Amino acid sequence: MQKIKRKSLLYKSGVEYADYCINHVEGCSHGCRFPCYAMMMKKRCGLIKDYNDWIKPRIVENAIELLNNEIPRLKSKIKVVHLCFTTDPFMYKQKEVSDLTLSIIKRLNDDNIRCTVLTKGIYPKVLTDTKKYGENNEYAITLVSLDKNFKDNFEPGAAPYATRIKALKFLHDTGLKTWVSMEPYPTPNLVKQDLNKVLNKVKFVDKIIFGKLNYNVKVTEFENNKDFYADCANTVTDFCKKYGIQYHIKYGTQENENRKTENIFKKEDKVRLCKLAMF
Ligand code: SF4
Repeated sequence: MQKIKRKSLLYKSGVEYADYCINHVEGCSHGCRFPCYAMMMKKRCGLIKDYNDWIKPRIVENAIELLNNEIPRLKSKIKVVHLCFTTDPFMYKQKEVSDLTLSIIKRLNDDNIRCTVLTKGIYPKVLTDTKKYGENNEYAITLVSLDKNFKDNFEPGAAPYATRIKALKFLHDTGLKTWVSMEPYPTPNLVKQDLNKVLNKVKFVDKIIFGKLNYNVKVTEFENNKDFYADCANTVTDFCKKYGIQYHIKYGTQENENRKTENIFKKEDKVRLCKLAMF
């Protein structure tokens, strides 16, 4: 795997559910075709050439060195560090990425900094070793379908859904906090599926985040997409209330809501976007 060097690693996020963030890999072999907003952003800012360039991940070889410098300076300001927004921390079948992610989590936890982690890969069982890794971290998977064809088309390099869920359940069963990001949830013209069946597979989790699919022309082609997403949001809400699961419906998914906190990645400010894309 190729390596790159960066000048900084920890950065303050502007998104709804995160504080500080780390993206210690450039690119992602999952190669999502929703499309992947991180890829679009990096391409627009000239940091990658194209899709083929994006799916060849390059790890930040000086990540731990940077953390050793940044943690003492930022520690008092950080509530939680999220891994990752512009790559995947447990990229499927990319051991070097997983190994670096484990070192980063350990380095942060050693300084009592909590992590939230989101992946479309497989969580290693070693994370249940709470002598090594903190017991207050939160681990999440993205899950928007159970349909293999959909996964093969839209998340070609990501882990199969069943193994993704199994690995998360293992962490849950040992007492770690787990959640699921059901975003970007596809419209029925992309895949016909029963949302309740997807929800039932992950009813063990502590929290579900639900959000619509953006930046895909097929969604706007689906005439009733607003009603569809409003219905889905109600289904998720009812399901979570029934099973005592925390939930969060992302801004823009339901109509008539007050959009106070906009995802920073949606802002059309190129300078700001490209500054973020550097991380
Ligand atoms: S897993 Fe995330 S970062 Fe990787 S290609 Fe898919 S959407 Fe992009």
